[in-house]
Amino acid sequence: MLGAEGERIIMTNMEMEEVHCSICEGTGGEPLHLEGSFQMVRCPSCQFIFLNPRPTVDALIRFYQKYLPEEGVSIESWERMMKPVFHRAANLLEPYRGNGKLLDVGTGFGFFLVEMKKRGWEAAGVEISQNAMDYARDVFGLTILPGPLEKADFPDNHFDVVTAFYVIEHLSDPMDFLRECYRILKPGGHLLLRYPHTTPIKNLLQLLGIKNRLYDLPAHLCDFSPRMIQQCLERIGFEKCQHLIGGYTLPDDLGKRTSSILFGGFAEALFYLSGKKFLFPGVSKTVLAFKGNIS
Ligand SMILES: [Zn+2]
Repeated sequence: MLGAEGERIIMTNMEMEEVHCSICEGTGGEPLHLEGSFQMVRCPSCQFIFLNPRPTVDALIRFYQKYLPEEGVSIESWERMMKPVFHRAANLLEPYRGNGKLLDVGTGFGFFLVEMKKRGWEAAGVEISQNAMDYARDVFGLTILPGPLEKADFPDNHFDVVTAFYVIEHLSDPMDFLRECYRILKPGGHLLLRYPHTTPIKNLLQLLGIKNRLYDLPAHLCDFSPRMIQQCLERIGFEKCQHLIGGYTLPDDLGKRTSSILFGGFAEALFYLSGKKFLFPGVSKTVLAFKGNIS
């Protein structure tokens, strides 16, 4: 939700709280970057980057009721923007279909579910925004449960694939979320996460003295690197993490679109030229993780 000058409109009187590092429970984050009155810090113990202090969970739930656009035009823009990323993810998941039971967490207006249903998957979603949930149900007839994920109370070992596009950076306890994904996945199932990796760009822009709001605070509560996300996934029991650039978004705004194509395309080219090893810092990434065949 952007105001006239492009600044995010922050709910007034947002209740804030001091928090520990949600990865290692450490205290005493070192200040990293400021956006307005919001501060990203780095955990001195595990290097996790997170917002501290941050809005309380209740304040965030209220905030997300106005987070996704309400106008039809904005919804179409959002679809156009995400389409290339959804298409790449759908292709990537094809070999892991199993019985084709998929859950998309933070599914928004449901465009990814529409794509997967077209491809023959049995797909459902979880969404926290009432506007988005209504749209996905009314326009596409999709099965959407109200979030957060833990509230949906799915049985153990239920899904072949769980996906979450641009969700993990919004969560107050990403480890709890990953544990829940692990629990509801069948043995042999796959988790696909798409996430921004903003800190390297923030560091560069700070050196150049360029002000920006790239963390999108207070919407983003943390910023993962591929290394950190792999550590978290493996700690929970996921195996065979596969990292990739996974395409780029196409925002309507010409400047943003040009930058996305330029950096996303460059990052993708370098990834393939390096034999799928080099993950260009600062662009969004996708990770695919596997739940082993344990009994
Ligand atoms: Zn930590």
